[in-house]
Amino acid sequence: MYIEPHGHMVSRTTDDYEKLALAGCVAICEPAFWAGFDRSSADGFYDYFRQITEYEPKRAARFGLKHFSWLCINPKEAEDLKLADDVMALIPEFINKPNVLGIGEIGLNKNSRNELTIFEKHVQLAENFDQLVLIHTPHLEDKLKGTRLIIDALKNHPKIKPERVIIDHVEEHTIDLVLDAGFWAGMTLYPESKCSPHRAIDMLEHRRAERIWMNSACDWGVSDPLAVPKTMLEMKKRGWSAEMIQRVTFGNPVAFMSQTPKFKLD
Ligand SMILES: [Zn+2]
Repeated sequence: MYIEPHGHMVSRTTDDYEKLALAGCVAICEPAFWAGFDRSSADGFYDYFRQITEYEPKRAARFGLKHFSWLCINPKEAEDLKLADDVMALIPEFINKPNVLGIGEIGLNKNSRNELTIFEKHVQLAENFDQLVLIHTPHLEDKLKGTRLIIDALKNHPKIKPERVIIDHVEEHTIDLVLDAGFWAGMTLYPESKCSPHRAIDMLEHRRAERIWMNSACDWGVSDPLAVPKTMLEMKKRGWSAEMIQRVTFGNPVAFMSQTPKFKLD
């Protein structure tokens, strides 16, 4: 039994829900993100928010899976400040939907000034509505700088408790920064970029699996919705106990997300 805490199911087929269910997945969480193309207006986001709060939970339920979602405008499209403000204005209408866990995945893409402005506005929104926060960190060479900018910006919001924030896509050079500041950390298992199962397990062993979850972040690009169960198998081969594997892939995501009463499993 495990949880996929980060999957963009709008871009996956119904077959993928079946594969997840067969692999032992019981719940999938879908942060709002880029759709593979730039949307032309806030109306596109209105429909997207309906899709991840109304339609995807029904598609998941056909395979006995719970579906949860997070709301925001992603950093890539947040470069357009007017669009970002229009999209953020839609969030209060959706925030009380039963499957919404919080604000995310917000963060930085190119570490630009506009992205940072919109990141701060989202954090304020999370504060106003007392929401959990899920954060995307930039790729490759921008990751360390972006992670530092994000942590510094969060310090301006003392009401946002670090234990209610997960900073995702950490790698070897950012994981300590995130965990030592009291946040949760997400590790993304990608076939081409981000971390491999072995790199992820090395990091888990280094930090003794504390406040860490693993996800596939499967989306419209090259990605593997079964990356988490495949890594669970590698953990077993490397001598991890069944209890510790469960802690990372089930207990930890449950512990983080249960901080909102809306996260309930059957
Ligand atoms: Zn994502």
